[in-house]
Amino acid sequence: MASKLDVIAEQVRICQKCDLCQTRTNAVPGKGNLNAEIILIGEAPGRNEDKKGEPFVGSAGKRLNEILLDAGINRDDVYITNIVKCRPPNNRVPTKNEEKSCLDYINEEISIINPKVVCIMGNTAYNTLLGGKEISKNHGNFVEKDGRTFFITYHPAATIYNQKLIDELKEDFKKVNALLGQNDNSNGYEERWCSYCVARTKLTIIKIPKIVTRKRRWLYKCTECNHEYWLQPYRTVAESLY
Ligand code: URA
Ligand code: SF4
Repeated sequence: MASKLDVIAEQVRICQKCDLCQTRTNAVPGKGNLNAEIILIGEAPGRNEDKKGEPFVGSAGKRLNEILLDAGINRDDVYITNIVKCRPPNNRVPTKNEEKSCLDYINEEISIINPKVVCIMGNTAYNTLLGGKEISKNHGNFVEKDGRTFFITYHPAATIYNQKLIDELKEDFKKVNALLGQNDNSNGYEERWCSYCVARTKLTIIKIPKIVTRKRRWLYKCTECNHEYWLQPYRTVAESLY
């Protein structure tokens, strides 16, 4: 059965809501995991994406793969899309009208996937989704809006000739991964003493992290006495970022 995302992808492929449909080779629907905890949002397809009909398959895509790998995020686990689904001629920045024509698709993608973090990559996505400007001042920040968590970072293409930005983008993505807890044993157990029943027992980690004064806490539950309490997880690579 076609998923709701397949339905949107089909609508995008035949969409004629703005003039970009006249110059595109292929429209480029979002692609990725239906159960993704992260949606990554770029600007618009480039030449390679337009040829293949898939997002982030050209040089910006290669850079993105490198950055995700470095942060310990698997590309198969995320969902990747763009603000505008058709390539603007000569890769110009999409117009406000094009962004507006395409906005329903991105809103539907976000609401269907319902990710933990909407990761905004670059000024176009920042401006369209949060009305923001100046990525360089705001990158690395989480923003809450309409009950959603957004994360602001650079567009991977901005880093192609700039080593300093690559490092900043990598650090940003590690923050996202740390929040999601994918780099540590957030879904499993930790061997610890339970301070209530004093059993040397496994504490089940049952809740997503809460960030208290920039330190993460997980809700632990003792497998012996069922007592629940917040603790800091053991220090991991991700933890050292905080
Ligand atoms: N740049 C983008 O913003 N999106 C792509 O899919 C490729 C390059
Ligand atoms: Fe439709 Fe968006 Fe492509 Fe414009 S850019 S034709 S609104 S899919």
